[in-house]
Amino acid sequence: MRRRAIRSVARRLAHAVNDPEVLIIGAGPAGLTAATYLGRFRRRTLVADGGAPRASWIPLSHNMPGFPAGVTGAGILKRMREQAEEYGAVITPGLIDRLTHDGERFIAERDGRSVRARAVLLATGVVDHHPDLPGVEAAVRRALVRICPICDGYEAVGKAVAIIGQSDKGAREAAFMRTYSDRVTLIHIGPPHALSRPDELERLGVELILAPLDSIDIENDRVTALSYGGQSRAFDLVYSALGASPNADLARGLGARLAADGRLEVDLHQAASVPGLYAAGDVVRGLNQIAVATAEAAVAATDIHNRLRRLDGQTVSDG
Ligand SMILES: Cc1cc2nc3c(=O)[nH]c(=O)nc-3n(C[C@H](O)[C@H](O)[C@H](O)COP(=O)(O)OP(=O)(O)OC[C@H]3O[C@@H](n4cnc5c(N)ncnc54)[C@H](O)[C@@H]3O)c2cc1C
Repeated sequence: MRRRAIRSVARRLAHAVNDPEVLIIGAGPAGLTAATYLGRFRRRTLVADGGAPRASWIPLSHNMPGFPAGVTGAGILKRMREQAEEYGAVITPGLIDRLTHDGERFIAERDGRSVRARAVLLATGVVDHHPDLPGVEAAVRRALVRICPICDGYEAVGKAVAIIGQSDKGAREAAFMRTYSDRVTLIHIGPPHALSRPDELERLGVELILAPLDSIDIENDRVTALSYGGQSRAFDLVYSALGASPNADLARGLGARLAADGRLEVDLHQAASVPGLYAAGDVVRGLNQIAVATAEAAVAATDIHNRLRRLDGQTVSDG
């Protein structure tokens, strides 16, 4: 009896790997949430996991709904992965290098092997641009260099904060941080003309420094020296506002419509401009947050299921 049950689970998993109905590309919060929903809609779902989701960088998140004491990025990903697998989603490691459509199915290629699927959800996220200084990545993991004021500005109340920027985005983030601190400095490392309203910063109570960055020194829980243009200052925290690049090449290859910033344009159901292609999470234009990524994934997964039901004649016909 037990052997038969194991055989049936193995068959189901092999079926999801070799003949998925839905392929999810990316195993961050968006991809894993969609996998849980689609598993519960009883869809054979394969998740391609390119590794190192942005969420895995989060030292401790304090704004995840339902976690009043906070939760680590690794902790939330572990729970989401377990939940998706509980409902039969199969998560396999590897980057999808190419995505095409043959008029009937999407064809995704990975390491020379291909998989076909009726619908694809892109949950591929973005890649952050960190300042080009040794030790920065370790400092991000310790929350001494931060990249998301909406996520953790609250934890900067009253602290001396530096924002590293190279465009108006830096000015906007510095102004945003004034909600939390009256000691906010924008270190603008881009060309001066990249700041369209430097005069505004004084009115907003933000100190402006125009200089290239030389180094960052961190001791215990503090940035003991941020060196720029031959000077050095200590700050409690540094935010990098250098932006991010969306992982949208697969969508571009399919001819999907992208916004000016390279993120995917989607409709209210998270459908992209190519039929059967959906997108959720940071790769879509909007607020880059886990709560947003999971909400978009829920919307996308439900529409994917309903689309496949419609295509299979499993919905009530219009009167
Ligand atoms: C330091 C830091 C702190 C943060 N703090 C918070 C916080 O406190 N609260 C909050 O809500 N948000 C926070 N965020 C933002 C949050 O991490 C993102 O909004 C969230 O991870 C987006 O989820 P996602 O699934 O869209 O993308 P990701 O988590 O980035 O996952 C995308 C996945 O897609 C994979 N992928 C890309 N291309 C391919 C491919 N071709 N084939 C296969 N896989 C591919 C990538 O490898 C990656 O694993 C923080 C981010 C950082 C970096």
